[in-house]
Amino acid sequence: MEEMSPRPHFLVLTFPFQGHIAPALRLARRLLAAAPDALVTFSTTEAAHARMFPATPEADGAGVLPDGDEDGRLEFLPFPDGTEAGYVRSADPGAFNAYMASFHAAGARGVAGIVDALAARGRPVTRVVYTLLLPWAAGVARDRGVPSALYWIQPAAVFAIYHHYFHGHAAGVVAEHRRDPSFVVELPGLAPQAIGDLPSFLTDSTDPSDIFHSIFNTIRDLIETLDKESPRATVLVNTCQELEPGSLAAVGAHDVLPVGPVLPSGDESGIFKQDGAEYMEWLDAKPANSVVYVSFGSLASMAREQLDELLLGLEVSGRPYLCVIRKDVMTALAEAEAEVRGRLRSGVAVEWCDQVRVLSHAAVGCFVTHCGWNSVLESVASGVPMVCVPRMSDQRMNAQLVVREWRVGVRAQVDSGGVLRAAEVGRCVDEVMGDSEAAAEARRMAGKWKRMVAEATGKGGSSERNLMAFVDSARSTV
Ligand code: UDP
Repeated sequence: MEEMSPRPHFLVLTFPFQGHIAPALRLARRLLAAAPDALVTFSTTEAAHARMFPATPEADGAGVLPDGDEDGRLEFLPFPDGTEAGYVRSADPGAFNAYMASFHAAGARGVAGIVDALAARGRPVTRVVYTLLLPWAAGVARDRGVPSALYWIQPAAVFAIYHHYFHGHAAGVVAEHRRDPSFVVELPGLAPQAIGDLPSFLTDSTDPSDIFHSIFNTIRDLIETLDKESPRATVLVNTCQELEPGSLAAVGAHDVLPVGPVLPSGDESGIFKQDGAEYMEWLDAKPANSVVYVSFGSLASMAREQLDELLLGLEVSGRPYLCVIRKDVMTALAEAEAEVRGRLRSGVAVEWCDQVRVLSHAAVGCFVTHCGWNSVLESVASGVPMVCVPRMSDQRMNAQLVVREWRVGVRAQVDSGGVLRAAEVGRCVDEVMGDSEAAAEARRMAGKWKRMVAEATGKGGSSERNLMAFVDSARSTV
């Protein structure tokens, strides 16, 4: 017997990293747009919340979105992670694993309290939606009789790899194979992959002393959690059918719904403070397709040698460039900041920009990226070819999709010390922006995928239909 609940109310939970907050908040807004009567409570840790809304005056740290464009339908309620300041980068290799233990324990308790408090306030949650490092969220929801959905914010290919690895295929990815990064791994339904391109948490973090071992355990718990869902787990994926048809078909055990790319609808809050708009004016003055945009996301650090090589390569390429050098990266370079800035001739550096606006600007002709999944999706949606410089997590797989599957970019080779040399920067930028046939092809393919993605997310498109089906499912409780 199905009972109609008055309003769909999604509790969207996310890990406190920018690369998780952004797609979660974007999904929250898409859900609100898809159903005019829907409510969303968005929840990340207290420390991240405080960075997102530094001016929020409420004593308890909670607040309603300042611009109020959702008529109070979007509410922000943070949960504790057992720390004062959140995860603080540390030279101690155990620090991240200790943070994760605290995050899991305090987070699960805190989120349970939020679900109960919302019910007590007459605003009951009808669906819990959680991103990938919160496996306990499904259990918290299950205990309260609320259905949940995982929101997978990496490619479907990576989800399929983890799924099969933790379902009997770990033996193909063992330490002795890892010594040869080109060793080929075959997993059900997926194209053969070089072991070195698999998610790094599978190949590097199986050792308990690894600084990211807790991520390996968390993903394992997540995959096990999905198996406990009955009748089947719902997995929303930030991709679209057209981008990854094979990988989406490779996990038949769950209801896998591609709903992406989920992009921003206007300005959005994040945990980084943006530079002023001068860089947009700088872009306005540049010819179409002339600028190289460079960013390695919200987490990657950069050694001085790497920054020197990168800037040299960009200068020698002779093209204007816009380079993100985050404040924490600059701070780590200490006294070198003025000297680094003084070296910029044909380019400008910003600490943080509105990347989606930058990528949508006609002047931008290529994106030198670390291949974080958000960056890749934003570039594909904007039709900008990429130079891929992947480092860890899912980034090598993402680069494979860019280069091999969609043919919208090239993969830069790093030297034996992992450094991207200046000459390689120049070669790769030329390969996607120059006059060669290959560059023209990359630009043509980038245009093709841009159109494809716009169709998928537009009215009646594959992703839009999946999202609507999910929203409708949240109107009824069985
Ligand atoms: N980003 C941004 N401004 C910048 C650099 C990055 O808005 O100057 C955003 C970017 O648009 C993306 C996110 O930060 O949404 C980075 O996420 P991604 O998955 O690409 O990488 P991560 O930071 O998780 O490594």
